[in-house]
Amino acid sequence: MTSSLFDSERLLFTPTTPDTNAIPLIFAFPNEYSVGITSLGYQVIWATLAMRDDVQVSRLFTDTHEQLPRKSEIVGFSISWELDYVNILNLLESLEIPIWAASRNDSHPIIFGGGPVLTANPEPFADFFDVILLGDGENLLGNLIEAYKEVRNSSRQTQLQRLAQVPGIYVPSLYEVEYHTRDGAIKSIQPISPEIPAVVQKQTYRGNTLSASTVVTEKAAWENIYMVEMVRSCPEMCRFCLASYLTLPFRTASLENSLIPAIERGLQVTNRLGLLGASVTQHPEFEALLDYISHPKYDDVRLSIASVRTNTVTVQLAKTLAQRDTRSLTIAVESGSEKIRQIVNKKLHNDEIIQAAINAKAGGLTGLKLYGMAGIPGESTEDLEQTVAMMHTIKKAAPGLRLTFGCSTFVPKAHTPFQWLGVNPQAEKRLQFLQKQLKPKGIEFRPESYNWSIIQALLSRGDRRLSQLLQLTRNFGDSLGSYKRAFKQLKGQIPDLNFYVHADWSAEQILPWSHLQGPLPQSTLLKHLAAAKSYFDSSQKGSGEMREMGRWGDEERISSHYPIPNAQ
Ligand code: SF4
Repeated sequence: MTSSLFDSERLLFTPTTPDTNAIPLIFAFPNEYSVGITSLGYQVIWATLAMRDDVQVSRLFTDTHEQLPRKSEIVGFSISWELDYVNILNLLESLEIPIWAASRNDSHPIIFGGGPVLTANPEPFADFFDVILLGDGENLLGNLIEAYKEVRNSSRQTQLQRLAQVPGIYVPSLYEVEYHTRDGAIKSIQPISPEIPAVVQKQTYRGNTLSASTVVTEKAAWENIYMVEMVRSCPEMCRFCLASYLTLPFRTASLENSLIPAIERGLQVTNRLGLLGASVTQHPEFEALLDYISHPKYDDVRLSIASVRTNTVTVQLAKTLAQRDTRSLTIAVESGSEKIRQIVNKKLHNDEIIQAAINAKAGGLTGLKLYGMAGIPGESTEDLEQTVAMMHTIKKAAPGLRLTFGCSTFVPKAHTPFQWLGVNPQAEKRLQFLQKQLKPKGIEFRPESYNWSIIQALLSRGDRRLSQLLQLTRNFGDSLGSYKRAFKQLKGQIPDLNFYVHADWSAEQILPWSHLQGPLPQSTLLKHLAAAKSYFDSSQKGSGEMREMGRWGDEERISSHYPIPNAQ
């Protein structure tokens, strides 16, 4: 079935006619078309495949697909959201492919996955995939296809062994994980044979041309948007931040050779432009780009900016955005407490945040959303009070500006210095406290669900024993209650929720991703964690008893500290 959804597409590249012997490949996004086609990563990988004559690529979404090959040899998934794993399993079943990698044989295609979720921690999903691509897709994908061509007619096992030799390609079934006890911590992770690399290194693309949309469509979730990646990673290195730590080093697209030509190409087919990246305004030539977009010939361009650093919100930026159809701005401040911002390495002061609000209003914006977190390690109720006080000050300093405080719960992420720290069970109460304090003062409060943060933490620190839990959860209906039911059913066979989510892990503990090397070695992450703790310790001096390392935070977290059996 070919859907009319595809008819609205305007392509910005020329697909090649595949050779007669081309590899039939399905490239799937485990969500609806409108979501998948708005993913820049998905667009770019699809276009890369469609421009190769040795591959015959067909797209698959949960609600539509292009004509699928009768027998595919490779099926790939681009994953941007953890909870889409349910759709991956559904799509595999719809293609009559076993969901467990171990149940596939030579007659089944190779199933690969890539994207930020799997690059951070693929382990909870490890048993569903034959191959996982770790890192930037630019070189990885081509290397995967070339290596596959060498072993196209070999047995599945030979194919997997060959693919495992490619840098950045992780074949989970070729690694054996041992546990101290069935429901305890990991004891060791070893390749099953000496030819398989003991450590897989995440791949980093170092070119100065970053991604830009390859297709524009009114059916995208961001209707008709043309997206340009301005920067990759972020140099700020906030200690909890996956967007920074996982993708280091910070890279910028060249203005002359990459950004301006890309923008000109895109603006020929649409007037909606999105500038993407973890820290767009950190681009060294951001001002020049703003001048370029301010040209009268772009008067009808609607501009969206993914992320703005607080101290770059000038009146000029606010003016340009207001003229280009942006009404409000989002800035991440994390907390109103200077102590907390020091702990997380957020180099920002309250007066800069207040000034950003004043500038936003002076430039003609009507709203400002500040984004923060509850339960940051080291946080106490006084820090929350400081957040409330800061919001009040902003309200007074920029009257009439619609103020929103969006707040999530701190969730530890793999490959960041805070990966060892658990979710604070007090965070839920803290979200309620903020709600109670901010609403009556006319500040809109938008909390993210605490319960879903718990699931995010589970998946972000999970090991491969969770594949079983995820499969059960899906069968039980994929609700929050389903996770609880699945944990109950697997009691004694896997660790409890507390181990994965709330416990502070010891630095000696073998992490589920210990064999997958991110941009920074563990020793550096530990140094950054120690720096955060020393800020915490110095902030406690004179305020009574100091808490022990690893037990900072509050009493509830101390009781959730998980004993690691036989930690060496
Ligand atoms: S400034 Fe934002 S993107 Fe950069 S490291 Fe901090 S939280 Fe991450």
